Amino acid sequence: MARVMCAGAAYSLSGFFVFCGLALVMARSGWGGKVDGIDDGCWVKRIVVTYLHIKRRVETMAINSEYVIERALNGDEMSTEEAEGLLQLSDDRSLEHLRSAADTLRKNLVGDVVTFVRNRNINFTNICNIDCAFCNFAKHKEDSSSFSMNVPGVIRKIEDAVPYGIREVCLQGGINPEWHLNDYVELVSTIKERFPWIHIHAFSPFELFYMAKKSRMTVTAVIKTLVNHGLGSIPGTAAEILDDEVRKIICRGKLKTQEWLEVVESAHQLGVKTSATIMFGHIETLRHRARHLFLLRELQKHTGGFSEFIPLPFVPFKTKLARLHDVTPISDIEVFKFYAVSRLFLGKWIPNIQTSWVKLGKEAGGQSLHWGINDFGGTVIEENISRLAGADHGQFLTAEEIQHIIEGEDRIPRERDTLYHMV
Ligand code: SF4
Repeated sequence: MARVMCAGAAYSLSGFFVFCGLALVMARSGWGGKVDGIDDGCWVKRIVVTYLHIKRRVETMAINSEYVIERALNGDEMSTEEAEGLLQLSDDRSLEHLRSAADTLRKNLVGDVVTFVRNRNINFTNICNIDCAFCNFAKHKEDSSSFSMNVPGVIRKIEDAVPYGIREVCLQGGINPEWHLNDYVELVSTIKERFPWIHIHAFSPFELFYMAKKSRMTVTAVIKTLVNHGLGSIPGTAAEILDDEVRKIICRGKLKTQEWLEVVESAHQLGVKTSATIMFGHIETLRHRARHLFLLRELQKHTGGFSEFIPLPFVPFKTKLARLHDVTPISDIEVFKFYAVSRLFLGKWIPNIQTSWVKLGKEAGGQSLHWGINDFGGTVIEENISRLAGADHGQFLTAEEIQHIIEGEDRIPRERDTLYHMV
């Protein structure tokens, strides 16, 4: 009897190891997306990580995607697990169902108009010591290609763009240790004095966080000071992926998830609008993407301060993150799928969702309009962050080119201002 029990135990144990081995191979092959921790730690940890991954994969596969999509179309809120389940869809029929639902919801919420803004980007300094692994824009001061523009230099760049009818200037820079709050204040006040009709959309939540720390003021006081001197709204960049484990790898020196949410909430409470962004398609899992959407939706319910959502596909080519973690460019269909899930997940809470032609290119930018997108972004004269990471889709589209692309997709182009008022 004892011998039979021993044989049974040995049989079960070997079955368990065979299962774990198979599970590891499946997980390492990317079955069901990337797996956090699969390459770290001892075998016991790897097996536990794999088990949890497989369990979650089975749970999300059990989600009835057609039911989830129908509910979202009826205005019901989707859970993060359901969003993760939709992000796993890969067969043509399911993807077409997802696309068509996102397109319908877009039409129901904002109609057939596709908006865009005439704007100019100015990255006024690339000096930064934060060393985010995904960034190829920043340089240390001693690097020969580092730069820091003075106020007249910025003014000249805006003057160059005035003939294009710009309504917005977007200012963002590296975290330059030589810049103080007074420098930022001088920058916005001089721009506002010289070009009072231009909306200043400037300074990421991380730049604001840095200004507050450096000047020993609260973030609220910093935003108030800048607004009093001409700041109009804030880009919701530096969000990357709102998960501290991911942030430790891609942007260790940046503000944490909670800090990003607090800076943005402070702006919203002052009545200052911000955009919302995500940088996706690198080391994050589908669950991280879904959770990011959840955090944005919750904050929006509380403040109503997001003007739009801008999902930014990661451009890996020249970045340290790609070299260290073998990141390859995300495919257009994966980007479109995320656009569609974002539309269904955010629903009425964030009705404006922007495509990123700078990263996708003109053709895919046009195609994305059928996946829940209703905004084409801006003319964006000069875009350095994506270009230096290896994007090659240009730095400028005229308003006429944008209109042509939108009309080519049977949609109605309309010019807007930064805050989505039609002009
Ligand atoms: S992403 Fe911003 S903070 Fe990070 S290294 Fe680049 S410029 Fe600096």
